[in-house]
Amino acid sequence: MSTVIDGKAFAAGLRERVAQAVKIIGSQNGIKPGLAVVLAGEDPASQVYVRNKGKQTAEVGMNSFEHKLPMDTSERELLALVARLNNDAAVNGILVQLPLPTHIDESKVINSIRVDKDVDGFHVENVGKLFIGEDSLVPCTPAGCLMLLKDHIGDLTGKNAVIVGRSNIVGKPVSVLLLREHCTVTIAHSRTRDLPAVCRQADIVVAAVGVPELVKGDWIKSGAVVIDVGISRVKGKDGKSKLVGDVDYAAAMEVADGVTPVPGGVGPMTIACLLRNAVIATCRQHGIEIPSVIT
Ligand code: NAD
Repeated sequence: MSTVIDGKAFAAGLRERVAQAVKIIGSQNGIKPGLAVVLAGEDPASQVYVRNKGKQTAEVGMNSFEHKLPMDTSERELLALVARLNNDAAVNGILVQLPLPTHIDESKVINSIRVDKDVDGFHVENVGKLFIGEDSLVPCTPAGCLMLLKDHIGDLTGKNAVIVGRSNIVGKPVSVLLLREHCTVTIAHSRTRDLPAVCRQADIVVAAVGVPELVKGDWIKSGAVVIDVGISRVKGKDGKSKLVGDVDYAAAMEVADGVTPVPGGVGPMTIACLLRNAVIATCRQHGIEIPSVIT
């Protein structure tokens, strides 16, 4: 019998623990963490996402600073804003919502964020630290995947993990995190030969592709655990639009030990991990201990 891995419930619990951590550092150190989110342009999905981030940031007791810039903002103006936030003591975490308008060099902007305020963990120095196993700010979606896996499985040592997708924001960092947990990691991608056979070897499948229901039930080994990161909007049989993941959920539930649903699996973990990163960043900047409720 397969278990639904309930990311929504786990994320709610994590946000509660983040709120406790915020209270602890407030009462013991008189510090209130601040998270700044920068949105350039009017992408509807990004607007919803930024609104949710702002709401959840305030709900856990942190200061939320939102900077909404028009689509035609120049790279120079955006870099100047990041520089101001870098120097603002009330801002402990900075997130620049991606994608940026095409006339702006994304990596230049991301790498202009102060490394210790880079709560998305995309700065090249944080990426490097993750790879060599030093303390860093870990990208939020991959961190969320790892938390759900550890909560469901426990010790991951020796597990065969197949990551489908090799993006810098999900596939690659998830692979590194699982390697750090002593998994044997295979990274599969669009040029992988016989992807079904590769997936069938896996005790853990993490699908981060963006192709609706690519991973079929007969690609999953009996008893495997499946983390579905993909989110795609498709038309259902009734003609209504719905969200689906990269995995054929119903078929995977027939064979797997546990599967994350879409929606309600990995998605809610991302913002919860972002809030956790903001608290971690605050503690490191002030040289104070990270409250154990979130470690
Ligand atoms: P991406 O487009 O940057 O990367 C997709 C990867 O999938 C590539 O490495 C590519 O090689 C691989 N790929 C493409 N087609 C393939 C195929 N047919 N077979 C095997 N591999 C294939 O995407 P991304 O940014 O990593 O996002 C992946 C999915 O995860 C998207 O649906 C995205 O919306 C979702 N996502 C969700 C969250 C969240 O839940 N919070 C966060 C980030 C991304």
